[in-house]
Amino acid sequence: MMLEYTSQTIAVVSACICNRCQRRLVTDDMDWQERLSISYRAGYSSIFGDGNTVSLDLCQQCVSEVLGSWLKIESSELNSAEDQELLAIANARLQDGKPWVEVDVDKL
Ligand SMILES: [Zn+2]
Repeated sequence: MMLEYTSQTIAVVSACICNRCQRRLVTDDMDWQERLSISYRAGYSSIFGDGNTVSLDLCQQCVSEVLGSWLKIESSELNSAEDQELLAIANARLQDGKPWVEVDVDKL
C-alpha cells in the first residue's frame, strides 16, 4: 500500500483580544495562560435569549478589575504562615479595589 498526501492549510489560535481593554494576548505570552475565556449557549430561561451564544475573553488585569471583589484566591502550594499572610494582603487589596500587590519574590 502506498499513501498519498495533499497539502492543507490549518488555522490555529495565535492570539486573543481582551473584550474589555483590547489587549492582545499571544500564545507564547505568560498572560495567555491567565486569561479568562467563556463561551456557552444560553438556555430556555436565560436573560441572554434562548439558544444565543454568550462569549467573553478577558485578560487577567480585567478579570481582577471587573470581578476582583468577588474573586476568592487560595493557594494550593503555599502553606507557610508567611505565604498565607501574603495571600491575605492580596485578597484585602482586591477588596479595596487595588489588585496589584508588590511582593518580594525572595519571600516566596
Ligand atoms: Zn483586558
